[in-house]
Amino acid sequence: MATMTVGTEIKEVLEQLGLKENNNGASTGKGWFSSNGEEIKSFSPVDGTLIGSVKSATLADYETAITKGQAAFKEWREIPAPKRGEIVRQLGDKLREYKIPLGKLVSYEMGKSYQEGLGEVQEMIDICDFAVGLSRQLNGSTLHSERPVHRMYDQYHPLGVVGIISAFNFPVAVWCWNTALAWICGDVCVWKPSEKTPLTAIACQNITQEVFDANDVPEGVSSVLIGDAELGKAMANDKRVPLVSATGSTRMGKSVGEAVGKRLGKSLLELGGNNAIIITPSADLELVIPGVVFGAVGTTGQRCTSTRRLIIHESIYDKVKDILVNAYGQIKIGNPLDESNHMGPLIDKDSVETYLAAIEKVKAEGGKVLVEGKSLSGEGYESGCYVSPSIAEVENSYSIVQDETFAPLLYLIKYSGDVNNAIEIQNDVKQGLSSSIFTNNIRESERFLSAGGSDCGIANVNIGTSGAEIGGAFGGEKETGGGRESGSDAWKVYMRRQTNTINYSSELPLAQGIKFDF
Ligand code: NAD
Repeated sequence: MATMTVGTEIKEVLEQLGLKENNNGASTGKGWFSSNGEEIKSFSPVDGTLIGSVKSATLADYETAITKGQAAFKEWREIPAPKRGEIVRQLGDKLREYKIPLGKLVSYEMGKSYQEGLGEVQEMIDICDFAVGLSRQLNGSTLHSERPVHRMYDQYHPLGVVGIISAFNFPVAVWCWNTALAWICGDVCVWKPSEKTPLTAIACQNITQEVFDANDVPEGVSSVLIGDAELGKAMANDKRVPLVSATGSTRMGKSVGEAVGKRLGKSLLELGGNNAIIITPSADLELVIPGVVFGAVGTTGQRCTSTRRLIIHESIYDKVKDILVNAYGQIKIGNPLDESNHMGPLIDKDSVETYLAAIEKVKAEGGKVLVEGKSLSGEGYESGCYVSPSIAEVENSYSIVQDETFAPLLYLIKYSGDVNNAIEIQNDVKQGLSSSIFTNNIRESERFLSAGGSDCGIANVNIGTSGAEIGGAFGGEKETGGGRESGSDAWKVYMRRQTNTINYSSELPLAQGIKFDF
């Protein structure tokens, strides 16, 4: 890093994470690539401070990372999965050691609350623990052959180099969701993090390298390429990368999906959401209100699972509206490292502009803005990234409502009749990530979870839309991309399946009873 002008506490955090000042601005540290590319400056949205700057990786660096990855794969795939799991176990322990500084850096570089920064690191630890157990359970089935004295089984093998493209809003957890599983599966990983959060990415690589060095893991099993979309595009077009796991906007996912599809590679796409909560007449409002407020303003509305739409039954609509408008008046906005604040900044000033423009579009389409978000200025808001949150009454069909605005803009939509009407509104968007219903009526909740219910990858009852446990498979349908990562059997996407048939007879019978006398 070339420059560091941050306060003492953050300076200590950077040092603890191996992000030392380096006057020539060139790369330091194994496994992360940066050379003569453009300088990327990381400004904190918290206070506008330049935290550090990094030279971005070039396409030549990309080549090196892929070549090293390919060579490392030949060694890594030979190591028994439980032994790879043992290394991932040590990574989980190392993350426990670094939880506080890494959580703080996530909060300072990305702008989410300190608690959420710590939560992200905890998710990394959790997925490491999950992967350790999984490293002894990469099971295939034993199958009965139709041919006598034959045996059949399927087994899973690693793919090779897994390319990971990630978004700014989960700068560390998404990488670990992918790497912890890919590594125990025997793959090697090349990571292209968001150019908006380069320092947390380097910190992850430094922590990993400590563990890998202690275990003589070959160079190339973990690499990070700091840079912009060009590096991601290179990955998407590269047939040496059998799987590209890409998290980000639907626009990005369409581009990556098309490029990977053209070469018949595999992609795991985790894209935008437009998540709704249905509130039925029997809903317990004591649960609804904190669930909605956390879902809508938590992470300043910058979660893929943030609550964007509330679909409220007409019989309780005014009551819910009044409580929410009142609750929004009590939201404390400010430095996310100060735990008394509920909402921190948006990632950058461009996001502020996008947010304010979205509010104008709501008005232009005929929506009624009940709480109007503003850009905040003055003491504590010097970065220019702070806004207040918004609530608007809209129709689901408005084009602005159909799109994901990555900011704290909450839409209220009224429904009448039974729960099927609410489900129809909920599903009537392009995205299909997360969904919730608040109800004490079992017929309504079961309908919501049934085949004719929510069309999303995640469907919750009496829980908000945001926040997920690593044990379940995470992802969504339609323009959310269809990918699944993290828990359940998501590991299978990181492997190729091979069906093996063994003949231990002295005959050569053919399948389907085909006769071939020769
Ligand atoms: P973004 O799409 O702008 O960028 C994401 C990453 O993709 C970055 O690393 C970027 O450099 C790269 N990129 C951009 N265009 C590319 C291209 N054409 N080819 C290859 N790489 C490209 O997204 P963002 O603003 O960083 O993140 C916010 C978005 O991410 C939101 O839409 C949010 O819903 C989504 N998201 C989804 C999930 C999920 O699991 N579904 C999780 C987190 C974020």
